[in-house]
Amino acid sequence: MDCIFCKIANKEINAEIISEDDKFVVFKDINPKAPVHLLIIPKAHIGPINTLDDKDRETITGIIFKAKEMAEKVGVSESGYRLIFNIGKDAGMEVNHLHLHLLASKQLEF
Ligand code: 5GP
Ligand code: ZN
Repeated sequence: MDCIFCKIANKEINAEIISEDDKFVVFKDINPKAPVHLLIIPKAHIGPINTLDDKDRETITGIIFKAKEMAEKVGVSESGYRLIFNIGKDAGMEVNHLHLHLLASKQLEF
């Protein structure tokens, strides 16, 4: 499968990885929209939110807790941050591998 985030998870292409465990990889977005812009992905390929089913519940819980942990790690837990899942073309979703954006470190505007 030709999935860029699978390739990042498998180290086939480079990314600025800031954290990794057995289930998730966290790396810097190549085109940051804020001073802190991280992407949190499951290592196993899962599609976007609108394709989830029951077996993905643990992954979704895990990705949110990973975001909380990352916010603490990069020091924005108190100052604040935004978590975003883009779903589908009207949201501008580009990559078809589940990913959670963590944006922080400026006054975020909608
Ligand atoms: P989406 O719009 O699908 O929610 O977000 C995909 C994000 O992945 C975009 O913010 C884009 O900048 C980022 N991105 C796409 N390709 C790469 C890549 O090869 N490396 C990294 N680090 N980020 C990428
Ligand atoms: Zn993938």
